[in-house]
Amino acid sequence: SDHLLEYPISPSHMDWHKLYPALIPSEAETSASSTDEAKQVDIVDIGCGFGGLLVSLATEFPDKLILGMEIRVQVSHYVEDRIIALRQQHATEGKYKNIAVLRANAMKFLPNFFKKGQLSKMFFCFPDPHFKIRKHKARIVTSTLASEYAYLLRPGGIVYTITDVLDLHQWMVRHLEAHALFRRLPKEWEDEDPCVKIMRKDTEEGKKVERNKGDKWIACFVRLDQPE
Ligand code: SAM
Repeated sequence: SDHLLEYPISPSHMDWHKLYPALIPSEAETSASSTDEAKQVDIVDIGCGFGGLLVSLATEFPDKLILGMEIRVQVSHYVEDRIIALRQQHATEGKYKNIAVLRANAMKFLPNFFKKGQLSKMFFCFPDPHFKIRKHKARIVTSTLASEYAYLLRPGGIVYTITDVLDLHQWMVRHLEAHALFRRLPKEWEDEDPCVKIMRKDTEEGKKVERNKGDKWIACFVRLDQPE
């Protein structure tokens, strides 16, 4: 449970070198050498499951650091092993060094990991639906959490959502549209965006829905500069 989860007391206390050893210098290396701004996580996949989205995003955004957050221990271990194997298989091209997974409860500690305005994209792919009304507060998009996501995203940043549960789709749209710092993007934008394509076809859950010929509901929101 949560009390066993490790999280830093602030973003600057996090050891990112452990997750991106080839791209982020260790503390010892940093203090010995340059004063350059360290590379930071830019894209997060909340509830990343088995990591299909991460793997596709790695090559779509080779210059960005991408992080999957997953609450289940075994699942996060599986993704860790998957990334290590990919890094080894593609060692000569140096691929997959820019993705990592962290076991975390994304509903609780996000501001401990990321600074204000740090993120450019947040993905919510097939989040758990929590069907029962008394469980709705456990949904990953709520008014309170929408404010937290607005805090973490920079202006122009995007929240991506996809689900096969219509009720959850409507819930996420309602809560994000009601927020003064988010505006829903039109279908034409979705049709052009490469990440929408990736989240439709490369997440494990998306593939399952495809096999079962289920619907996929998508909604994307831009983080505004000023409240509307
Ligand atoms: N996004 C993946 C996909 O599309 O294939 C997985 C979808 S799965 C239905 C939902 C995932 O979210 C599960 O792996 C679950 O363990 C994870 N999850 C649920 N609540 C979470 C939380 N508070 N923090 C991090 N992960 C969470």
